[in-house]
Amino acid sequence: MAAVFLGTIVHSKSFSEFESFERGFLAVSASGKIIGIGHDYQAWESSNPVLAKDLEVVRLSDYQFLMPGFVDCHIHAPQFAQVGLGLDMPLLDWLNTYTFPLEAKFSDQQFAQQVYKSVVEATLRCGTTLASYFATNHLESTLILAREAVRQGQRALVGKVCSNCNSPDFYVETAEEAVSGTLAFVEEMKKLGSPLVLPTITPRFALSCSKELLKDLGDIARRFDLHIQSHISENLAEIEVVKGIFKTSYAGAYDDAGLLTNKTVMAHGVHLEDEEVALLKARCSSVAHCPASNTMLSSGLCDVQRLVNAGVTVGLGTDVSGGNSVSIQDALLRALDVSKHLDFFKKQNIRGMGEAKTQDPNYVQLKYKQAFYLATLGGAKALSLDHLTGNFALGKDFDALLVDVSVLESPVRRLHVNELVEKFIYTGSDRNIVEVFVAGNRVKKGCQTT
Ligand SMILES: [Zn+2]
Repeated sequence: MAAVFLGTIVHSKSFSEFESFERGFLAVSASGKIIGIGHDYQAWESSNPVLAKDLEVVRLSDYQFLMPGFVDCHIHAPQFAQVGLGLDMPLLDWLNTYTFPLEAKFSDQQFAQQVYKSVVEATLRCGTTLASYFATNHLESTLILAREAVRQGQRALVGKVCSNCNSPDFYVETAEEAVSGTLAFVEEMKKLGSPLVLPTITPRFALSCSKELLKDLGDIARRFDLHIQSHISENLAEIEVVKGIFKTSYAGAYDDAGLLTNKTVMAHGVHLEDEEVALLKARCSSVAHCPASNTMLSSGLCDVQRLVNAGVTVGLGTDVSGGNSVSIQDALLRALDVSKHLDFFKKQNIRGMGEAKTQDPNYVQLKYKQAFYLATLGGAKALSLDHLTGNFALGKDFDALLVDVSVLESPVRRLHVNELVEKFIYTGSDRNIVEVFVAGNRVKKGCQTT
């Protein structure tokens, strides 16, 4: 598309800097790059006549605005088949009872095709223009997921999951199979040749991989300069087992294998110790905050402010199906809730709890514009793709949502630019997202094709 949008445009420039243009403009080139943004289109047009030539003019209504697409830093695509089900157990029981049996079924490629088509459709419908997907141990069905993302036009990182120990007999591989499967996957992804969909190295979590396998995966990531994703410090019981096996901290177990790099995103980080936070910061590794899942699986309250203040990059994850929603807008709201609940603990003497150990009268809650950052640019940074996407900086790809807050009912009065965003965050749903663009292509409608 070559177009200019005239109306309200919003995006984040950093965790603390939110920028909005009321009656502004955003121009996109035929190649899907952002070529102009600002308050005064006429001034831009007259000083850039060549760029402005042949742009289709799209006028937004008073209730519409453009924002960057949502980034889901952590989602298990196969678990979409059980989203909203089986959320009555803590992590390790939940894995054994529901999740491993489900994932084992992805040896069936027809089943994989059906589920993966649906999950990409659902995430796009909810405005996820970039997702970091875990698939399963199976090479063929993981490729099916990657092809679905390409076909439907979503930007994605896709990982063949690796696990060679502490897993059930019906869903485990040898270290050799994990390594050869990962190498074959990377090779097949090269043949797929998509600029939008890339492979990511995916040890399931430290507990399900031997030290040797983790190290081999770290070597592959370094050799091919690949992204890396896994889980860290999600649940107290799990952390004790990891420490017992690896004789170091959870972060130390990954670092020893070369798996903490500037292209690494680790889900959760609920219970990270100070030394682990410092290690993540030193390695420029990121955290995917998954508030819904942390609540559903009774893992705990992740203190995002603590991580951000320590200089760690944080994005949001739905963690389907530990999380019950595929929507990052939902994750954004849950992140605000979790931050408020932490604030209560730090400032209130709650009846029955005694004096909380973590009292902090100066604690500052997350604000909605900061959560908006986590859901967009923070996520893109966490996935090391912020040179391409995450906000509307000149030269980036046009990954965007056209939001209309009047789809279900018109607000009772005209809303100020920031109020439009607030209204969408606190009361909106996927129905308010009327268009989704990835690299300049309209994809929301395309996702309903076969
Ligand atoms: Zn997960």
